[in-house]
Amino acid sequence: MQCKDVQSKFIPFIDDELNYKELKEFLEHIRQCKNCYEEYDFYYTMITGMRYLESDNNKTELKIDSGQQLNEAERYLLQYKILQGEKILLLVAICIGLIMLL
Ligand SMILES: [Zn+2]
Repeated sequence: MQCKDVQSKFIPFIDDELNYKELKEFLEHIRQCKNCYEEYDFYYTMITGMRYLESDNNKTELKIDSGQQLNEAERYLLQYKILQGEKILLLVAICIGLIMLL
């Protein structure tokens, strides 16, 4: 993923709209590219701040920690990976079960 691709995904990222592959590439890039990280931090603060002002302030929690969203996304990726691993194990177990039955 190039810098310009990453930068076009700031808003989808903040809205949790990236798919697994996009999210993975986005995070990998942003963790290594200081430029994109700074841009992201700026966007995040601006967008969440604007939304906070537009919304009913009492109901919406002001999110100002851009790093936290990155951490949460990474945790999500990790869980997704574990889940995929479990699915494969389950599939293997089913196959073995079928073979035993035959
Ligand atoms: Zn970059």
